[in-house]
Amino acid sequence: MPKKASAQKKSVGKAIVRSVVSAAKTAKKSAKTVLLTGRTLPQPVEIEPRPLDSPVLRALRKERRRLVEELKHQEMLAQERPTTGNHMADDATEVEEQAKSLALRRHLEGMLKEIDRAIVRADKGTYGICDRCKNPIPEERLKVVPSATLCIDCAKLQTRPAAKVMA
Ligand SMILES: [Zn+2]
Repeated sequence: MPKKASAQKKSVGKAIVRSVVSAAKTAKKSAKTVLLTGRTLPQPVEIEPRPLDSPVLRALRKERRRLVEELKHQEMLAQERPTTGNHMADDATEVEEQAKSLALRRHLEGMLKEIDRAIVRADKGTYGICDRCKNPIPEERLKVVPSATLCIDCAKLQTRPAAKVMA
């Protein structure tokens, strides 16, 4: 009798294991289906059309890609360039070239940072709004300076000495 009971227990245990395994398999399968088809997932809710998809912002992202590529290219060139020339006469030119290349890379990095800042502003919904007077920055200005954070009037004020701004 005790033998039979233990055998029964074992088989119950096996049945539980089987059902757990099959449940896990089913779950895995449905997860896979979700991943593959994406149909059972609810569609992302469109909250409000942000000005994120404005042509200006598309240009901003395009400009960012261009800058990244340009920077990569410049870094590659810098690495290929020998650090020490074999001929003394070439050294001056070499140093000058290196300085130019470095300046160009710094410039590109600076531009990239500004673009990134503009993209962050776009995500926050403050892109194209003047930091100082909170008025929209005209599209024409953004076309010329996509990373502009000030309208032309405020930008002019900022470049002037503080005393004049106060006046
Ligand atoms: Zn302004």
